[in-house]
Amino acid sequence: MPHLTGAEVRDPELARLTGLPFDDDDEILKAAIDEASVPALLMSMVHMTGDLSILDELPRPFMLIAMDLQGGMSEPDKDAVRARAFEVARDYRDRGCPPPFVPDEHQLRVMLDVISAGQVGSEFVDYVAADLRITDVDQNGPALASSAPQRAGFPVVVIGCGEAGLLAGIKLKQAGIPFTIVEKQPGVGGTWLANRYPGCRVDIASQYYTYSFEPTDHWEHHYATQPEILRYLRDVMDRHGIAEHVRFDTEVTGAAWDDATSTWRVRVRGAHGGVEELTARALICAVGQFSTAVIPDINGAKDFAGPACHTAAWDDSIDLDGKRVAVIGAGASGFQLVPAIAGTAAHIDVYQRTPQWMAPNVHYHEPVSPGARWATRHLPYYGRWLRFVSWWPIADALDEQITIDPDWDTGGLSVSAGNQAIRDMFIAWMRAFADDEELLAKVTPGYPPMGKRTLQDDGTWLTTLQRDDVDLITDGIAEITAGGVTDTRGVHRRADVLLWATGFDVNHQLGPIDIRGRGGVGLNEAWGDAAYAYLGVTVTGFPNLFCMFGPGTNAVNGASIIYNSECQMRYILGCIDMILASGAASAEPLAEVCSDYDRRSQERLQTMVYAHPAVSSSYYKNAAGELPTLFAWRIADYWKWTHRPNPGDYSFTKPFDKPFDKQRTQEVS
Ligand code: NAP
Repeated sequence: MPHLTGAEVRDPELARLTGLPFDDDDEILKAAIDEASVPALLMSMVHMTGDLSILDELPRPFMLIAMDLQGGMSEPDKDAVRARAFEVARDYRDRGCPPPFVPDEHQLRVMLDVISAGQVGSEFVDYVAADLRITDVDQNGPALASSAPQRAGFPVVVIGCGEAGLLAGIKLKQAGIPFTIVEKQPGVGGTWLANRYPGCRVDIASQYYTYSFEPTDHWEHHYATQPEILRYLRDVMDRHGIAEHVRFDTEVTGAAWDDATSTWRVRVRGAHGGVEELTARALICAVGQFSTAVIPDINGAKDFAGPACHTAAWDDSIDLDGKRVAVIGAGASGFQLVPAIAGTAAHIDVYQRTPQWMAPNVHYHEPVSPGARWATRHLPYYGRWLRFVSWWPIADALDEQITIDPDWDTGGLSVSAGNQAIRDMFIAWMRAFADDEELLAKVTPGYPPMGKRTLQDDGTWLTTLQRDDVDLITDGIAEITAGGVTDTRGVHRRADVLLWATGFDVNHQLGPIDIRGRGGVGLNEAWGDAAYAYLGVTVTGFPNLFCMFGPGTNAVNGASIIYNSECQMRYILGCIDMILASGAASAEPLAEVCSDYDRRSQERLQTMVYAHPAVSSSYYKNAAGELPTLFAWRIADYWKWTHRPNPGDYSFTKPFDKPFDKQRTQEVS
């Protein structure tokens, strides 16, 4: 793949990502270097000097470790690198910050071997190079074969303006495709606008939970808080001029494919109830998996007399000050909420049905220091490598630990030797914060680690549960009364406020939206409890319909949904281009391609920890034990498969014409 040149990297847009020239004094340089990630710094030194021999002269990362930005390096080793980095950065500044050195393939291989201690196999190099912006393949995608007038005559409606819908808008606009985004909420943000509960923050490193084409030097926290993320999405929307294309406070109620005109007729309802129909050549469904909140049907729930809300519909008018609060659910949302409101509420009862695994992460609540932010903004390629350090150890590197070893039997406590090692490490981490065996027994899951979404923990959860004003209740809930909650032992605990942290219906992601494809077939009916889509994007019988964060795309242990959305949007643009350039009116995946993909996906998922019978209650599983929401392979595979569509995977409504060769151009297997 063609690598960028130093001059190209200095293009103002790219320089925002790869490092802006600087003339700051030594003190600022020193502070930045002292606060930086040393493995990323080591790589930046190569970009500043063009000299790979530096890597032989200095200590190297021991290995990239999840949640550690320092590659397991000792203090003396880090000091040695920092001392040299200071000299290199000073010299680079004094030379006037020339365009950075961009390594060729062989040189990049050497750098990757050093930073990852040999963990990055050759099959990953193109994928990593693209994200580092050493190549530009992700941004440009394949060259468009359709003409600008063709694209200008192909209006698209996008449902939802969360991270995915916003991304769709940005990419459609860049391609010259007219579009309207319809968003039911009053602003951009999707789940990040809806989920405003105290303590809400991302649990994937901010560096990775970022559009690859936007800088990362502004993050104030390693794991950004909800207000920060919302600010970010608003800024990105402004920078790309997307707001004028969005109809806020407007809900899509349904959409129907009209075969005669090869268009989608999209029904929308505005804030004041006015109903309208939009016509589009393609429909992008970017509602994601977390838009339908679940309040379980617990006996008496409707009788509760005090204020109540779900975490995904936070009610700012509820005053928790001095109140007795019942929190139902101890998953990702409850786990963030409870520590944030402890101390404000007079007392909190946390109702936990199943404990959840927590991964050690000392950075979870930590701010990013000003020096580290300066380094991200200025040191050549430092920010890109920091992003790599953040994601590599948690994404594809965990493949072995999440695969069930059929010969491994611990009665469901772990699924392989690697998975058991994680279990031991997670338990050791918990024991660092509690020695109360009764509490430890309550919070230690009886299922294998990573079987459900793993939470990020710096000790806050167990510290909170040990407060005098917080109780963890593990007995089931028998009923909710007007004044509180009664457990299955018959103990009634008074509550003034009831907070549901009970998650989402991810298996029915469309909620009430009624999408009808060819022949009036309903998508909700076609999907039932087991939604499917080819590559998580296209569905047979639904021409020119594209999903983002659709079925089978949740890569739960360590992937960034934003990264995956970029893969999907590149693929969607490729599909639109394929339709237009071929002279077809529409395309949909061949039934056998779509069902074969779904079958292989489900078969593979059954070999993974998520499917293990010991993971009894998990929102990933439907009633039949299938895992329709999850992605089954490596992110690197998804990146490759979504690079562009195979025309051979699709049927077209008009005879297929050159210029595309109607053969599979890459394998999805
Ligand atoms: P969740 O992980 O599904 O947790 C729901 C909780 O409610 C679980 O503890 C569940 O218990 C409990 N629950 C459900 N029904 C219940 C019932 N009838 N009685 C008692 N307890 C009940 O939902 P979530 O916490 O909202 O998180 C969902 C997903 O959203 C996460 O996995 C993550 O992907 C995303 N999320 C991300 C962040 C972040 O990035 N920081 C934050 C929040 C959410 P069981 O475990 O027994 O089912």
